[in-house]
Amino acid sequence: MTATALPGHPHIAYRDGELCMEGVRLSALAKTHGTPLFVYSKASMLAALAAYQRGLAGRKVQICYAMKANSNLAILQIFAQAGCGFDIVSGGELARVLAAGGDPRKVIFSGVGKTRSEMQQALKLGIACFNVESQAELEVLNEVALALNTQAPVSLRVNPNVDPQTHPYISTGLKGNKFGVAHEHALETFQRAAALPGLRVVGIDCHIGSQITQESPYLDAMDRVLDLVAQVEAAGIAISHIDFGGGLGINYKGETPPPADHLWFALLSKLDARGFGERQLMIEPGRSLVGNAGVCLTEVLYLKPGEQKNFCIIDAAMNDLPRPAMYQAFHDIAPLKPRSGQSTLMDVVGPVCESGDWIGRDRDLHVQAGDTLAVLSAGAYCMSMASNYNTRGRAAEVLVDGEKSHLIRERESAADTFQGEHLLG
Ligand SMILES: *Cc1c(COP(=O)(O)O)cnc(C)c1O
Repeated sequence: MTATALPGHPHIAYRDGELCMEGVRLSALAKTHGTPLFVYSKASMLAALAAYQRGLAGRKVQICYAMKANSNLAILQIFAQAGCGFDIVSGGELARVLAAGGDPRKVIFSGVGKTRSEMQQALKLGIACFNVESQAELEVLNEVALALNTQAPVSLRVNPNVDPQTHPYISTGLKGNKFGVAHEHALETFQRAAALPGLRVVGIDCHIGSQITQESPYLDAMDRVLDLVAQVEAAGIAISHIDFGGGLGINYKGETPPPADHLWFALLSKLDARGFGERQLMIEPGRSLVGNAGVCLTEVLYLKPGEQKNFCIIDAAMNDLPRPAMYQAFHDIAPLKPRSGQSTLMDVVGPVCESGDWIGRDRDLHVQAGDTLAVLSAGAYCMSMASNYNTRGRAAEVLVDGEKSHLIRERESAADTFQGEHLLG
């Protein structure tokens, strides 16, 4: 038996000419469950988490998985059982944490637009911290907490104004972004928070963007945040935890982001050098824990040769894999059973009625109708962003664990997609 792991995907390999995840042949899963089908490797997720745990070993740290990357209950369960808390951005995500058996006391609530009812729900459940993004939000949270006769634990999300050198739609720590409190206004905002009786200042946080592939933006952001911690504490407001957000990138197309343990080795040296090494830390990784643990299996429906372009029409589309349409993102595409012979340059597109519905452009493939392909790096921001556009039911999801596989989400039927709609009287 010959096995060749895909570069950057240690749990995905060709074995005897067939693409496998851990000990499972992906073609068998496509046959049993149909396509499009998301498949995730448990070992891959735990290995990604272990890299953070190694890098942060011996420190006071809470890893809060940013669940918007992939919020399937079974995946949340895996991270909860591994000791993670969760970074949430809505009341719906909080409900998922509870449904998955997660501990609300390890939840931090991020996002610029929390509603009063979401605040109430989170306060009643006793979450660890609200990551507040504006002065206006502070005032509302104070009111909501006082009405419940309690105090809300708050961290202020500061905007360190560093360029993460990533796609503009996923950079969040620059002045022109909607996120966080500007560096210059951070001190006065902390002072306001400390003065409000319904709030208890517990932390400071930042999150500068996503798919970051270099160390330097993190080091710069850390410096800026530590400057603020010193300033705020000098003004008499204690900060009990520092949260450095998420954002570490993954390999989609040969990118070489620092491994999490290397990144944290560098960051912790700075933290130690500046005398903050003993602090309680939090981090909020999303993509880097799940992105390369997942693939989306899809069947080739038709080949459509053309004068200018050849099209490979597949049964997955932008409603399943929104990243190419949304960010011009690249996902590698691999056949489950590669054919020998001449390959052709083609655009891989879905059935949705939009020209933006492409999954891969100018790909060199040798495929026939009926073949199954794997769209790689599909564990993060794919299923969690999936929609029912064109009344397409969302795909099923399977988790692979060694030789075993578990259906962790049923395929949506057409009836599921219009359940809850009403005809007129
Ligand atoms: C999305 C998000 C994260 C996770 O980002 P990744 O790039 O997936 O690691 C962390 N923190 C906040 C506040 C976020 O919005």
